[in-house]
Amino acid sequence: MFDRLVGNERAKETLRRMLRQGRVPGALLFAGDEGLGKQLFALELARALNCRARRGVEACGVCPSCKRTGKFESPPAERDEYKKVLWSEHRDVGRVLPFNRNILVDAVRDLERECNFRPAEGEARVFLVEDAESLNDAASNALLKTLEEATPTTHLILITSRPAALLPTIRSRCQTVRFAPLAVEELESYLVKNRKRAGEEARLAAHLAAGRPGVALGLNLDTYRARREAMLGVVEALAAGDDRVRLLRAAEELGDAKNKDEYEPRLDALELLIRDLWLLALRGSDAPLVNYDLRDRLARLAVSLRPGRPALWLARVEELRTHLNVNVNRRSATDALFLSMALD
Ligand SMILES: [Zn+2]
Repeated sequence: MFDRLVGNERAKETLRRMLRQGRVPGALLFAGDEGLGKQLFALELARALNCRARRGVEACGVCPSCKRTGKFESPPAERDEYKKVLWSEHRDVGRVLPFNRNILVDAVRDLERECNFRPAEGEARVFLVEDAESLNDAASNALLKTLEEATPTTHLILITSRPAALLPTIRSRCQTVRFAPLAVEELESYLVKNRKRAGEEARLAAHLAAGRPGVALGLNLDTYRARREAMLGVVEALAAGDDRVRLLRAAEELGDAKNKDEYEPRLDALELLIRDLWLLALRGSDAPLVNYDLRDRLARLAVSLRPGRPALWLARVEELRTHLNVNVNRRSATDALFLSMALD
């Protein structure tokens, strides 16, 4: 049942209508940010198509067919394994995954072969093409052929957070279903009701995830708080304006190659803090903050800043991000960032 999934009521209605009319397209494109449940929706659609004890047009969720659908082994380690369709325990439901951000053309050829077969045990064959933005030109062209020749019992579901990165010829052959984040309050109450997180933890997770359930579930809040504390130290040093040594030490720590994996998450945390300061300056003390649990501390900081500073800082962080994409040296870029923020 689609109701087992949280949010995206419009996508649910679209999929239910397709099932009711018996017109589930041969090619679907599920588009929307990471963490919105696109893969879960795709598998729920696959269950509905093959369920042995449907409730209306939807999957029962408990028959052997439903149970096996979507049970995949964890992604393989070897490149060669990515050259073919990876099957779930249901013999009509498989997926294609990218290896090193590339969907291999051999995998699409295997998919093309499999698309020609009749269902082995159910009524429909369903294939998920995950991270479909990872189709290069060769793989895209192979897939186009498959999309043109698919049999009526085969359904391809392309899943992507970057639909614009797909070839227009691919997009135009798929019916697009769009996924959107939930309202933060809706996500918070989902987390509490399903005992995923309690009280304040649920609230902070929902805020940080900006309404994306998959992100909220995967967050480590202790890690986030530690990052945030480090970055708040930077903002406080910037606000005080007289602590260049502290700033350079912070830049050194952030830019240190040892902490490579921490770099972007910390930059994210810094940006969220500055955004909150900007909102406080703009809208006063009842501005809707992501770091709402630090409201008093941030409000004190906000009044100590020259007007316009947070906006300039946000632009600096964005500028740094663009430079990072072209492989600039992190250490010196971070030094430059903090020193120029100090002068803003
Ligand atoms: Zn079932």
